[in-house]
Amino acid sequence: MVRTTPPRPFDITDVFPELREHRGTTTRLHPRTGTPTSADSSVGGPLLWPADEPWPMCSDGDGHFLDKLMKPAAVRRSREIYEAAEHRSSFTDEERAELASLEVPEPEELVHRPVPLIPVAQVYRRDVPGFIGPDDTDLFQVLWCPLGHADEDAPKIELFWRHTADITRPLQTAPEPPAVEEAYLPNACVVHPEHFVDYRYFEMLPRDLQARISAWEKETGGPDYSKWSAVPGWKVGGFPSFRMSGPISMTCETCDTEMSLLFAVGHGEWDEAGYWCPLEDPVDLSDPLTGIFIGRGFDWYILHCPVSPDHPFSPMMQ
Ligand SMILES: [Zn+2]
Ligand SMILES: [Zn+2]
Repeated sequence: MVRTTPPRPFDITDVFPELREHRGTTTRLHPRTGTPTSADSSVGGPLLWPADEPWPMCSDGDGHFLDKLMKPAAVRRSREIYEAAEHRSSFTDEERAELASLEVPEPEELVHRPVPLIPVAQVYRRDVPGFIGPDDTDLFQVLWCPLGHADEDAPKIELFWRHTADITRPLQTAPEPPAVEEAYLPNACVVHPEHFVDYRYFEMLPRDLQARISAWEKETGGPDYSKWSAVPGWKVGGFPSFRMSGPISMTCETCDTEMSLLFAVGHGEWDEAGYWCPLEDPVDLSDPLTGIFIGRGFDWYILHCPVSPDHPFSPMMQ
């Protein structure tokens, strides 16, 4: 099923043509629980991975900040129980007993062994216009350690770009970590890539343009530009929001170019009023849909250098 973001009521570049320099195409992924295969773009699904390439592991041991460790299977089962009970006023006795047994934390010693990273997302070039990555690649993969890290408030990630024709012998079953923090384990989701025009976050526009847009909004009672920009949710490309930090310019540590958004793990796919909810979905669909919950409900971004995919990427939480 396709997902269609409701179009904005009119084209704001008719009023402010200079905004054309501050817009770009984003690909909203619209992840929904499902059963993707490694041949699909997905969130939390199986990755197309060469069998002869070692699976990435995290060996940070004591460097982990541990909250509550659960087996991945226990997280999945407890989510099933919560989902089944969602439209009832309470759990059954059996559900309550099962939840109690599932929520017994796993021993912390488990993290002293190398912990396999888990698939967060993979995106095929065919699904993303302007796919960003080395020219000969057609698949982008994001993995992260499923545990908190003491020295950072965000997941520890690794990124891979692949040329799928080179993968003649794919890995059949990825290793699974013995324990995870629930908030970092995504549900397996199919995605519904939709290409949509995105606009730069209001406070990142040139000051004089901000002032003119504000004056125009006041005068006409026109749309709130902020509402129209920095599309929320899981997306590839487009513009990040700076709702937590306020505007900051992130530059590449290799070449000093301003970094741009590569990939967004959005906390919510739409706002409380349902703005950004696709036409095909009910607004009361529970969100976050992927099961990911970073910090106190933050968006989490991977920024990259537009000059070269070989330059270091940078995570940012907002
Ligand atoms: Zn780790
Ligand atoms: Zn650079």
